[in-house]
Amino acid sequence: KSENLNVLITGGAGFIGSHVVRLFVKKYPDYNIYNLDSLTYAGNLENLKDVEKEPNYQFIKADINDAEVINELFKKYRFQAVIHLAAESHVDRSISNPFAFVKTNILGTVNLLNAAKKTWNGNPDNQLFYHISTDEVYGSLGETGLFTEMSPYDPNSPYSASKAGSDHFVRAYGETYGLPYIISNCSNNYGPNQFPEKLIPLFINNIINEKPLPVYGDGRYTRDWLYVKDHAAAIDLLFHKGKKMETYNIGGFNEWQNIDLVRLLCAIMDKKLNRPEFYSEKFISFVKDRPGHDKRYAIDAGKIKEELNWEPPVTFAEGLEKTVDWYLENDEWLKHVVSGEYLDYYQKQYN
Ligand code: NAD
Repeated sequence: KSENLNVLITGGAGFIGSHVVRLFVKKYPDYNIYNLDSLTYAGNLENLKDVEKEPNYQFIKADINDAEVINELFKKYRFQAVIHLAAESHVDRSISNPFAFVKTNILGTVNLLNAAKKTWNGNPDNQLFYHISTDEVYGSLGETGLFTEMSPYDPNSPYSASKAGSDHFVRAYGETYGLPYIISNCSNNYGPNQFPEKLIPLFINNIINEKPLPVYGDGRYTRDWLYVKDHAAAIDLLFHKGKKMETYNIGGFNEWQNIDLVRLLCAIMDKKLNRPEFYSEKFISFVKDRPGHDKRYAIDAGKIKEELNWEPPVTFAEGLEKTVDWYLENDEWLKHVVSGEYLDYYQKQYN
């Protein structure tokens, strides 16, 4: 990639986006990094306090659903590359309000694609629409097998259906208009700055506060987990070295059943909080299953490993411990987030 590249990162105030923004701002001082985010409940500029004064960073408050504004911004800043993370991202919210997911995840993505298509004629070498997606587009697995890049799309929740739709549009703009793209589909992320509606930070917060730990169904749901900074590093690698017009799976080679994960988390936290062994486990409660709940996701990240020699460096035990330490050290961040709308939502969801 050339120097002075103007890179638009959408959703940079969110969980994964903030790690991607930080990595790019610090690692590539010659790039101009524009973080575009509408700051929904999930966007939090506190996540980026340490980079906000860097000369190569600029925040733009805008909504990807606003086509006019997005077109103007592409003209004004001449973005040459996009890393698109802005999305409605929580499955439970997609069950109560699917339309918001159709709007941002599908229509918002198409707005960005249109703006890129309009402004990017010529020199495709320097252009890239990098779309960040999820392994949930592949649906659910049985006891065995792994999702590969060739697995058919089979989404089950409004969230995964909306992400599948956005993936199809990105690929279609590549095929139809020659728009240079990369898509990566990643497994569940965890780590610092994750909004505490998602399993790991929700449970860390509840363990601290001795609140119930609601586990869906029988707790035997299986997910692959990846440390968020490893995901950001994989995004950096694919952005610079991935083959255009291709899809890559990113995963942690790290499958866990929910109940085992929750027990491990309780054990780590009991140690950190000087509580007796098994103290926090008594707060585990099994709650009614989520409708359309996918039994198992597991990802084959062999393509990125073979082509680009990428493997997640952080093990789950290390990553989880780092995450717990971060939440314990950043209790102000957690307090600010666990308030207002989030609490209402939490009460509706789990009481
Ligand atoms: P997040 O909810 O923490 O962050 C989303 C960000 O997008 C927020 O800052 C929000 O303000 C912003 N946003 C939402 N709607 C917007 C709009 N209309 N215009 C502009 N900004 C808007 O999500 P996350 O967990 O960081 O996920 C980021 C991306 O990665 C999403 O596309 C998600 O589908 C994908 N992904 C997430 C995971 C995961 O485990 N969290 C795994 C794989 C892929």
